[in-house]
Amino acid sequence: MQQYEVIVIGAGPAGYVCAIRCAQLGFKVACIDKWVNARGKPALGGTCLNVGCIPSKALLDSTHHVHFLSEQAGRHGLKISGLEVDIPTMQKRKDKVVQTLTRGVASLLKKNKVDVYAGTARFLGEQRIHVGQLDGPSEELQGEHIVIASGSKPSTLPDIEVDNDRVLDSTGALNLQEAPERLGIIGAGVIGLEMGSVWNRLGSEVIILEALAEFLPAADRTVSKEAFKILGKQGLDIRMNCLVQGVQVTSDKVAVSYSLNGAEQLLEVSKLVIAVGRMADTTDLDLEAVGIKTNQKGFIEIDARWQTSVENVYAIGDVVGGAMLAHKGSEEGMALAEQLASQHAHINYEAIPWVVYTWPEIAWVGRTEQQCKSDGIPCRTGEFPFRALGRAHAMDDTGGLFKIVCEQDSDRILGAHILGPSASELICEAVVAMESELCAEDLARMVHAHPSLSEGMHEAALAADQRAIHF
Ligand code: FAD
Ligand code: AMP
Repeated sequence: MQQYEVIVIGAGPAGYVCAIRCAQLGFKVACIDKWVNARGKPALGGTCLNVGCIPSKALLDSTHHVHFLSEQAGRHGLKISGLEVDIPTMQKRKDKVVQTLTRGVASLLKKNKVDVYAGTARFLGEQRIHVGQLDGPSEELQGEHIVIASGSKPSTLPDIEVDNDRVLDSTGALNLQEAPERLGIIGAGVIGLEMGSVWNRLGSEVIILEALAEFLPAADRTVSKEAFKILGKQGLDIRMNCLVQGVQVTSDKVAVSYSLNGAEQLLEVSKLVIAVGRMADTTDLDLEAVGIKTNQKGFIEIDARWQTSVENVYAIGDVVGGAMLAHKGSEEGMALAEQLASQHAHINYEAIPWVVYTWPEIAWVGRTEQQCKSDGIPCRTGEFPFRALGRAHAMDDTGGLFKIVCEQDSDRILGAHILGPSASELICEAVVAMESELCAEDLARMVHAHPSLSEGMHEAALAADQRAIHF
């Protein structure tokens, strides 16, 4: 039986980062992953690289170009005639990006001398793992420390079967080879909005049914209201208060029955995407065999140091819930590795950035104004619109706004919210500011390059003290 100091189950962004950091710190490490790609080959990188962050962004980037060429190029004096969109080629490019990056993870693990096992891990004992290898005999591994980073899978709705032909999950929605005439999406969360944007830009009529009354409830209300308007103008028909009850699939359509404020409604679409969230993937682990506890929603329970109910067995990433984001999992992976090496390990869960990659992008970190109010924290806010930025005009991209939330008296930044072009990049300044416990005044005194979109953050910080210059 092979002996390891650390065995990591899962090679998604939580697991492979943990494995590499453990190896850098001198541990003997194994990393096990069961993922098999569409060509039947083992692939590393988990959901994020194979069917999540990366392929979705590849399609969002490609279709953003389509939108530019068809809607905006004329204003730049570019006359485009006969624009043809070849979706299979777009999909091949996406697949190539995924292949490059998953191979990159394999070479990083190799470079760091992590032993990779392609197969399914199952607990035999607190320190013993069975690996059902994909192409080889099964193995038994012994580990001083076991890290579960088995990630998540799409949630489903009762009585609705995903066949990835007419009724799709996020993976099916990423792989369509032509734009459906009418695409229904259940769930106006991050995945629903991103997939809706991709297929809307490629010509589908997109209708999104959302059970909640409030659009993007985790975002600041100023931003979510404005985003709702902008996305609506782009053609996303987002219907709130719509609770889906059932789906009927026929050879040529999908009929979705839902209730809107108590009244029965019917929507007929060519294809339907179920985007109602994700749940922990613990299916093959046999956690019960060793008594690892999960909560009511199926996420593995951990303490503040990522330890499960069993000593020396840890869990990180999507499988423990919280912010189900790649970067949150990776940070946990690094922090846990350092903790195992008796180093100081800390993650500031208050300063994790969130991004929705629509265009304009929606990004935030920390508290919203509404959360401050409901938690009784006196706060001030500063807002600044992209349309008051020279660079945004030069780019012909003036929709959206910056908003900073700071503590009333101390001026400390509690949150930042951006709706606008490249919000995913711009939010980083606010993360640094929050991690450094800066005040709005500090950002207001820092020199920001002109003309740049980052000036919007500067002006929002000035606006928090009612002294914005350009608005
Ligand atoms: P995963 O990436 O799910 O990896 C878990 C790995 O464990 C998998 O490879 C799986 O094969 C393996 N595994 C599970 N069980 C076993 C077992 N018993 N034996 C062996 N191996 C096992 N997040 C962002 O931050 N930004 C984004 O832009 C973003 N976009 C997304 C878009 C889509 C369409 C989707 C679906 C998700 C997106 N996410 C995004 C979420 C992100 O993908 C996840 O938060 C992230 O992948 C979680 O990382 P993880 O390592 O915890 O788990
Ligand atoms: P996220 O958690 O960001 O992936 O978003 C999933 C979205 O799906 C949430 O906004 C949920 O409110 C929504 N949702 C969940 N179940 C249903 C349902 N039966 N009908 C419509 N929307 C739903």
